[in-house]
Amino acid sequence: MLLGPPGAGKGTQAQVIAGRLGVPAISTGDIFRANVSGQTELGKQAKSYMDAGDLVPDEITVAMVKDRLAETDAKGGFLLDGFPRTIAQGEQLRGSLQELGHHLDCVLELVVDEDELVRRLSGRRMLVDGEWVQRDDDKPETVRHRLEVYREQTAPLSGFYASEGLLAQIDAIGSIEEVTARAMAALERPGQSDDS
Ligand code: ADP
Repeated sequence: MLLGPPGAGKGTQAQVIAGRLGVPAISTGDIFRANVSGQTELGKQAKSYMDAGDLVPDEITVAMVKDRLAETDAKGGFLLDGFPRTIAQGEQLRGSLQELGHHLDCVLELVVDEDELVRRLSGRRMLVDGEWVQRDDDKPETVRHRLEVYREQTAPLSGFYASEGLLAQIDAIGSIEEVTARAMAALERPGQSDDS
C-alpha cells in the first residue's frame, strides 16, 4: 500500500510499481473520479466532498474498496493507492483483508516536504480529451485544505503501520525513476526506513 500526502506522486508510482509487480493498482481517487465523470450514484455522493478537499465518508469509501478487492484480478495481490486515509479505514481494511484471506506485506510512505507539495499541486495539469486541465481540487485554497486533512486524519497511519512493523519510508523527491528504485528496494525490507 502507498501512503503519502497529496502531490507526493502516489498515483504515478502506483502505476509503475504495480506494473513491475504484475498486480492491479487500486486508487480510490481514480475510482471516485471515474464515477464523478460517469455521473453514477456513487459519483454524485462523492463529488461535493472531493470538490471541497474533504474526505468522502468512510461508509461510502470502505464498501467501495471491499467490493474492488473482491474482484478476480486482485486475487493474486494488489497495490492500494489513497486508501486507507484514516485510522478507522485502516482498521476496517484489516477486517476486509482477513475475510478475503489477504494481508498487507508493506506500507510504503512517500515523504515530501510541504513547500514542494504546494509547488507540485498548484502546477499540476491533467490531459483530458486532448486538453490540459487543472483538477478542481488542485486550486490553491483546496490544496491547503487537503494538506491539513492529510496532517490531521491520514498522517497518523504512519505510526499505526510502523507499530505493526510494516512501514517503509522513502524520500520521494527526485526523478520518477529514482523514486521507483527507492520504492522497489524498500519493498524488499519493510519495517525499515530509507537513510539516503
Ligand atoms: P490526492 O492524493 O492528490 O489528494 P486522490 O486522487 O487520492 O488525490 O484523492 C482525491 C479525493 O478523493 C480526496 O481529496 C478525497 O475527497 C477522495 N478520496 C480518495 N481516497 C479516499 C479515501 N480513502 N477516503 C476518503 N476520501 C477519499
